[in-house]
Amino acid sequence: MKKILVTGGAGYIGSHLVKKLAEDGFDLVVLDNLSRGHIEAVHPKSKFENVDLLDKKNLLEIFDKYKFDSIIHFAAFAYVGESVEKPGLYYENNVSGSLNLIRYACEAGIKKFVFSSTCSVYGNPVQIPISEKESIKPINPYAFTKFAIEQILNDFEKAFGMKYTALRYFNAAGADPGGSIGESHNPEPHLIPIVLTAALGKREKVFVFGDDYETPDGTCIRDYIHVNDLADAHIKALMYLNSGNCSDVFNLGTGSGNSVKEIIETVSDVTGVQINYEVTQRRPGDPAVLVADNSKAKRILGWNPKFDLKDILTTAWQWHQNQKF
Ligand code: UDP
Repeated sequence: MKKILVTGGAGYIGSHLVKKLAEDGFDLVVLDNLSRGHIEAVHPKSKFENVDLLDKKNLLEIFDKYKFDSIIHFAAFAYVGESVEKPGLYYENNVSGSLNLIRYACEAGIKKFVFSSTCSVYGNPVQIPISEKESIKPINPYAFTKFAIEQILNDFEKAFGMKYTALRYFNAAGADPGGSIGESHNPEPHLIPIVLTAALGKREKVFVFGDDYETPDGTCIRDYIHVNDLADAHIKALMYLNSGNCSDVFNLGTGSGNSVKEIIETVSDVTGVQINYEVTQRRPGDPAVLVADNSKAKRILGWNPKFDLKDILTTAWQWHQNQKF
């Protein structure tokens, strides 16, 4: 059986992918340093290795110990605000860590690599919806680290022939419908978990970061994509590489957007709880609208997101009411 290495498999998106792959009978090794991930999220059918990508000695031992067929790489720090305050931490952890991984992967002769990138590489896009042809203009260190890793993959492909797909996610949200895993960040910067914890009464109100944007209700619009749809896209991206296709980048979003106020209203509908909110000033670095043109992933990967906003909020609500970690 072909062995797959999943870095960051104890994290939010990684654990959802690992669950799907494990249930499909794939042979998996999850590598995670548990600095942000949760051991409870690691699927029992996968082998777990507590290793930091910056720890070259132990990382190399992992490559000696297992013969991987392919790598799916999630492990990274992913808070925009923290990356602005601590750029060194982000460049070291994300870029240096990924460089170690990519280098050892190439030395081990691995030919397939799926990378978790972000739509924030586009910065403030000119064209909405955003296609992969939009120019790359990151506006924070987090996005720069992700683009740097895409560039490293590109250069290493030319030198060593390791094919990759870079998957540029829009706003990952929702939880596995089974309720065993879901989103759990500490601190939690993301809108949907924040609104849901307000619905649970764990937060008095939600702060809406600006209502003077050029959008119909003045609040920012994002493309929220269910975490299991993202997991599906990784499996499709891996199959795409397994079929011998060339390296490429893909936007992963639903293709439609919702404003902050729409999220608050829909959470009220789903939970039956009225959410208190207060409009405060804009959060620095927030573009008004980020919505994916997902036609390339649909066309080339054969991917079709299945969950709509109601599903996203319903599954996330189930998780938050009975959060296990
Ligand atoms: N947002 C908000 N209040 C919050 C958290 C987020 O108004 O407490 C807004 C944020 O300004 C953005 C949207 O919600 O427009 C989504 O933010 P999130 O942090 O979830 O994802 P991002 O778009 O930054 O990746």
